[in-house]
Amino acid sequence: MKSRVVILGAGVTGLSAAYRLSQFPEMEVHVVEKESEVGGLCRSFQEGAFTLDYGPHKFYSNVPGVTEHLCEIMGDEFLVREKVQKIFMDGKYFSFPLSLFEMLTRFSPLKSVQILVSFGWQAIKNIIKPKSIATYSDFVVAKFGNKLYQSIFQPMAKKMFGNPEKLDRRLAEIRISSPGLVAVLKNVLFSKKVDRNVSAPEFHYPKAGFGRIPAKLREKAEANGVKFHLGATVKRIEHSHGKVQGVRVENSDGTSELLPCDQLVYTIPMQLIGELIPELPAEVRQASRFVRYRHTIVYYFLLKSPEVLPGMWVFYPGPEFRFGRLSEMTKFSPALAPTGHTALMADFTCLEEDPEWGMNDEQLGDRLMQQLKPLNLFSEDQVVKRFSKRFKNFYPVYDVGYESRVKRLRDLETQFNNLYFVGRVGDFNYNNSDQCFDMGYSVANHIHEKQQVGTEWSQLRSERFEKYRIVD
Ligand SMILES: Cc1cc2nc3c(=O)[nH]c(=O)nc-3n(C[C@H](O)[C@H](O)[C@H](O)COP(=O)(O)OP(=O)(O)OC[C@H]3O[C@@H](n4cnc5c(N)ncnc54)[C@H](O)[C@@H]3O)c2cc1C
Repeated sequence: MKSRVVILGAGVTGLSAAYRLSQFPEMEVHVVEKESEVGGLCRSFQEGAFTLDYGPHKFYSNVPGVTEHLCEIMGDEFLVREKVQKIFMDGKYFSFPLSLFEMLTRFSPLKSVQILVSFGWQAIKNIIKPKSIATYSDFVVAKFGNKLYQSIFQPMAKKMFGNPEKLDRRLAEIRISSPGLVAVLKNVLFSKKVDRNVSAPEFHYPKAGFGRIPAKLREKAEANGVKFHLGATVKRIEHSHGKVQGVRVENSDGTSELLPCDQLVYTIPMQLIGELIPELPAEVRQASRFVRYRHTIVYYFLLKSPEVLPGMWVFYPGPEFRFGRLSEMTKFSPALAPTGHTALMADFTCLEEDPEWGMNDEQLGDRLMQQLKPLNLFSEDQVVKRFSKRFKNFYPVYDVGYESRVKRLRDLETQFNNLYFVGRVGDFNYNNSDQCFDMGYSVANHIHEKQQVGTEWSQLRSERFEKYRIVD
């Protein structure tokens, strides 16, 4: 008899798991997705003649084998793009990650001296009185000195993740791939090579939008017999005799259905588990309430204009901008907008209680237009259309103490022995789509080989998934 695997969520993680499992004839695979289409945050959508992504998405991976594998799946749809990214500070555009040369020649002489003195002072303190590194800010100050922290890292972190003094060091380890000023200096003096673990010189991107990656994974999985339940929201996880037995879903027509399973792959927001299994012990449900995520807003300006940005995307740490980044779709693939047009995206994160989350598109658009004006990128009469897309629960909040709460939830894996948390929101792991792909494949291989969580699963997580770093 076939072994039945149900996968919750059809983002890149769920789709990769489904595709890999579908290659094993003894597996019967079902994917449950609340939206009417697959792809999660890696989708693209049409707006008139424009193809748009949910924020800038490049495909780049240092995880062994992942790029080669995806190139095989995408075939000639994949373009190789040379990456151009910038950061806007003190009224000027700088390359990013910052080069030491630019820091010393394009900042004001006073600022350059302050950066170097602050770094030198920090380097001495690190030797004579090293401080234990608990928070995001401790991590950055120890590596780069206080002046660079104050001018770039702190304002960027505040926009993306919240107060860096209250965030766990783990987030900085994942997000800041640069090894610090000493290593940058050594690299400048002794090597001209780009360090691919710090910055991606080029990346892959599908000609017709990033959403072609999930679309292709679905196509391949479906061809192998995977059954997709779209417009189906998971309402309950049923369990008995210490095992997950199935999931109850509500379809878009209001009907309810029970999908029995032997194994359950969980890629939907982790904290939902407390609602999906309401009979969990109070302390586990309590932990689930404090496993939190920030929401994401992407605001689109469709423009009748040639390209407007000096890079594919530009970071804006300054407090005068609510957005942390602007990006331009046509720089990823010219085929994404009609001739003579381009599309700009401003993306940022926020909490439910932030004013921007409650604003309608017009109010928010007006506010962003005011902030964009001094940048002179485009004029109001070039805007063909403007609107936002908003997503709940996408940026894991790594506040100090998060680890013990996440662990309480992950312990459910060994308790049930047939439940697996994977993916960005499913495993509370701030990552990119390449690692989601790897996690999806890894969970599928694990299920195929072991048919249970066992001890190897958490070993795989600590040896493989937790080593992941985001590369800009
Ligand atoms: C602005 C921005 C820029 C990014 N840039 C990059 C980049 O350059 N490169 C890169 O590789 N990655 C990038 N990422 C990250 C990338 O988008 C994620 O890593 C990836 O999309 C996560 O995939 P996932 O499958 O784990 O989660 P998701 O995509 O969130 O998938 C989860 C799925 O579960 C579904 N779901 C949720 N609740 C339920 C429920 N109750 N019932 C049924 N279904 C449910 C959701 O609808 C969703 O489809 C970026 C993300 C953002 C926001």
